[in-house]
Amino acid sequence: MLPSKGSKLLNGRPLAVFSDFDGTIAHPDTINFLTERFAGAEFRQEIARQIFSGQLSLRDAIQREVGVIQGTLEEVLGLLVRNVEVDRSFADFALWCFQQGIPLTVLSGGMRQVIETLLRPLNLPNVRVLANEVRVEQNRWRLEFLDATEWGHDKGAALRQARNTGQSTVFLGDGFSDRRAAAEADVVFAKAGLARFCQQEGIAFREFADFSEVLSVLRQTE
Ligand SMILES: [Mg+2]
Repeated sequence: MLPSKGSKLLNGRPLAVFSDFDGTIAHPDTINFLTERFAGAEFRQEIARQIFSGQLSLRDAIQREVGVIQGTLEEVLGLLVRNVEVDRSFADFALWCFQQGIPLTVLSGGMRQVIETLLRPLNLPNVRVLANEVRVEQNRWRLEFLDATEWGHDKGAALRQARNTGQSTVFLGDGFSDRRAAAEADVVFAKAGLARFCQQEGIAFREFADFSEVLSVLRQTE
């Protein structure tokens, strides 16, 4: 099966799709799940409160959350495989993108190894993953961030780069780390906190529940 390059256009430019992972492709959010598992719901809620009040950068917050994880990488990946579900319609969506020649990138503030492990059973040929790298040394968990920003991974950067190379961008997300990307994208699909943020900021968006809805909307683009 060969992709037909650049057949899908939006505003006369080839389409590129970018998606958040946790809470958007995977449920529950893997970082939230692990933080609650190892440090309790109250600890996680307090970190979330500090992110939203601006006391803690997203970068420092995620590093603190990852710091409470215990066990080997293999043990924790196994725990996630048993407890986290990937949106059932994501594979169909990704294959449609492949057939249409639409680049599909997962943008995450979470852990690359987790995303690749959870997506591996789907055997998708075309999903690029941009996420932070986790290191586990002597049972201590920490992230190596993708960039030097206060978010650890500025998701807006990939969208700016796509636009600079002449592409139209679609972004999907649900949370705080998705705000910059939503502000940069030509088309935004949002849910939960990101939908509320877009509403407050006057960023046009479509609410969505899963990837089957996104697929049916994008199929209708010219
Ligand atoms: Mg998310």
